[in-house]
Amino acid sequence: MRIYKNKNTVDLPKVDLPTLLFDSEHCLAQEDTPLHLSAANPAIHLTKATLRVLTERIAHFLRHSLSVGSQGSYKDVVVVCSSGQPAVAALFFGIIAAGGIFSAASPSHTPEELARQVTQGKSKVLVVSSDKREVGLKAAQLAGLPLDRVLILEGEPQWELKCVGGGKSLDAVNGEQMTWRRVTDEEELKRSLIVLLYSSGTTGVPKGVMLSHYNLVAQLYIPSIQARAHVAAAVEAGEPAPSPFKTLAHLPIAHIAGVFGYLISPFFSGGSVYWMSKFSWKPFLEYFKSLQITGFYTVPSIYLRIAKSPDVTDQFDTVEVAITGAAPMDAELQQAANRRLGKGKTRISQTWGLSETTGAVTAMPRGASDITGSISPVLPNMEMRCVDDEYRDVTPGQPGELIVRGPFVTNGYYDNEEATKATFHQDWFLTGDIAVERSGKFYIVDRKKELLKYKGLQIAPAELENHLITHEKILEAAVVGVPIEGGSEVPRAYVVLRERGGLSEEDVKAFVRGHLAEYKQLRGGVRFVDELPKNAVGKILRRELRDKARVEETRA
Ligand code: AMP
Repeated sequence: MRIYKNKNTVDLPKVDLPTLLFDSEHCLAQEDTPLHLSAANPAIHLTKATLRVLTERIAHFLRHSLSVGSQGSYKDVVVVCSSGQPAVAALFFGIIAAGGIFSAASPSHTPEELARQVTQGKSKVLVVSSDKREVGLKAAQLAGLPLDRVLILEGEPQWELKCVGGGKSLDAVNGEQMTWRRVTDEEELKRSLIVLLYSSGTTGVPKGVMLSHYNLVAQLYIPSIQARAHVAAAVEAGEPAPSPFKTLAHLPIAHIAGVFGYLISPFFSGGSVYWMSKFSWKPFLEYFKSLQITGFYTVPSIYLRIAKSPDVTDQFDTVEVAITGAAPMDAELQQAANRRLGKGKTRISQTWGLSETTGAVTAMPRGASDITGSISPVLPNMEMRCVDDEYRDVTPGQPGELIVRGPFVTNGYYDNEEATKATFHQDWFLTGDIAVERSGKFYIVDRKKELLKYKGLQIAPAELENHLITHEKILEAAVVGVPIEGGSEVPRAYVVLRERGGLSEEDVKAFVRGHLAEYKQLRGGVRFVDELPKNAVGKILRRELRDKARVEETRA
């Protein structure tokens, strides 16, 4: 068996996530230094000390006014659908401190999508930011969640949480606080869920990926300790110390990149996070320059814009650390974007991973770089293999599926044993990503799973298909991705109508609009076909459709 792993291993602290961050010597955040700031008005901010107070007040409120907590291994799920703001950090830790599970919902969700997430997680409470109030109310109605379980997070300058029904509010609990239960037992840390993120995995509709204290602590601690050791050695060797870490929160916290990149990692390293409520290109550029951002993680589609836009001049000059992930980035894009970062000196480092692996499985060690578009080496404590359909090692140079095991790997999908079982082979987690090894480096070349990615965001073909076939004039539908620039794909629907000519392309697109999030719209178009290609047992041959889409594209 050929196993790829890092030559280093790291001893993990046996501690829960909030304790590691708030109360351990490993966390570099100072009590009174601003940690979370509003990008529009940095005077509005939370320090570690004020974050702790707000966290503990929210925990008290959730526990005592809404009875959020845990019973044995069962924990209440709290869904959060919010635009970016510093208070989201307190909400995250407050839910965990109350004994609940933070279930992150995309701010682009329609009421139907949000209702599905509330229902799937058997959620006890739904929190929405005030700009998402209408979506939240409709979702609660669809999910049958009473209005006294719907909270509105009111924004700056004074953060407040208010129940829509029943008049309960954070302010009304008079500053009472509740701290979290410390956990040191390794088994409990592994079992104890704190975060649910949604991913379609290898097949089907989005499912709740269960992440435990252990998963999150490992994903935080291992790369951070490795990076710190490198920086210390470099400084001792006479290199200049890196600038204080300042990042701009512009990706949704519903994705693992947002959870780590904004809520957890900068806290641990003593950095600062400036929050934009919503990504928008012009303010994004302006904030990079005015706030002198020094580090960021973003997706290839944004690097593409950085590489190509005539608007980019000196906005990224202060960037020392730039990381990409969530979708493929080839050497050409990597090099073009590099030229615009840190006056051309900064090298983008690529990570590869999934929600199911709590984020990155591979990452470039601090101080090293690669400009060939590889996914970087495997992080310490993780193991990776590249295998064929029978789980046999492929020879280097041949494409194979990456399968992984180690402390970052999820316990499975929430309340879905079948999907959990299907995604493991023995103790190996099946990523569904196809890679090739060349000269000791791995390159992602394809996906074995149905999942599509548009601007780093997941689109589950099954979700679109399930919706399309609810149309009375649609007999069958299959959705596949059409690749576009920047590592994205746009969904194209192949549709069999009950009666030929019964619907136009625009009718089908309009039927999706309003029901599914903006980023899931049928940007790849609609093609009407007489039948879908299927195998002997009636399973849709997606690969055939993908090839068909590619041929259609080259002809267009
Ligand atoms: P998510 O769970 O939403 O982060 O999606 C995980 C999927 O994103 C992976 O299984 C890959 O298909 C894709 N992905 C993540 N990082 C990379 C990368 N560096 N290169 C290519 N695809 C990636």
